[in-house]
Amino acid sequence: MRIDLHAHSTASDGTSTPAELVGEAAAAGLDVLAVTDHDTTRGWAEAFAARPAGLSIVPGAELSLRWHGGARPIGLHMLAYLFDPAEPELAGALARVRTARETRAERMVDLLSADGIDITWDEVLEYAGGGTVGRPHLAQALMRRGLVDTVTEAFAPEWLGARYRIPKDDIDVFEGLRLILGAGGVPMFAHPRASVRGPIVPDSLIVELAAAGLFGLEADHTDHSPQEQAEMHAMAGRLGLVTTGSSDYHGTNKTVRLGARTTAPEALERIVAAGRGSGVVG
Ligand code: AMP
Ligand code: FE
Ligand code: FE
Ligand code: ZN
Repeated sequence: MRIDLHAHSTASDGTSTPAELVGEAAAAGLDVLAVTDHDTTRGWAEAFAARPAGLSIVPGAELSLRWHGGARPIGLHMLAYLFDPAEPELAGALARVRTARETRAERMVDLLSADGIDITWDEVLEYAGGGTVGRPHLAQALMRRGLVDTVTEAFAPEWLGARYRIPKDDIDVFEGLRLILGAGGVPMFAHPRASVRGPIVPDSLIVELAAAGLFGLEADHTDHSPQEQAEMHAMAGRLGLVTTGSSDYHGTNKTVRLGARTTAPEALERIVAAGRGSGVVG
């Protein structure tokens, strides 16, 4: 069984449509794929409709959360599986985050424009194609101008990594956990040690999250070193948390391939047994 529980489509900042994504997953030899776009369930229906025989789809999303308990707020990503997409509190919170992402990206366009970089908001919206707007869509605009050659380059500190980056208006981490659980979902901390992306939260927060209902840790991820992966497995063992491994595939916006990291069947079984808001398709 090859199980990849983290992938993005054009419903957020991936480059494959949901239909293409599930086709690629089958072609990559995966048996199970979770569709986990940022702050949206928009890709679910198309993915289900295009599901190739032999592939099971776990419905999910990757929530933009923020921890306010440290010296300064730290953003983190929480994967949520098998929740009810129609549960009003969670659906409402996700809709607010998506709107805030648009306001924020528009302000980033203004910052760039003020420096004479004439990308337009309309163009960024076009790259987002109706999905959740994110910095990768601004990166597309910078690439189109020939200012950077790759999305990775666009995330350098002098561009979207710091100079023109504005923080998102994310959901408080404990509130996010409560919303996921309230919608019958299973919360898993995405790439908890990915320091390459920015500041990471302390272990003490993971302990608190576990007490508040966190189900597990995405221990195996290409943004973790082998030592960080081992640390996350050890921590999960101590706290009784489930561990997963996933690619966090983003199509051509990143170099990682589907199935680059995978999840053990026993971990998936525990997630499926805990999910109460929706079911695995196929
Ligand atoms: P945002 O959610 O708008 O803050 O943008 C963050 C997204 O950009 C992440 O979900 C990744 O998909 C992508 N990303 C973050 N860092 C990098 C990087 N160094 N290179 C390429 N893509 C990145
Ligand atoms: Fe992303
Ligand atoms: Fe993430
Ligand atoms: Zn992701």
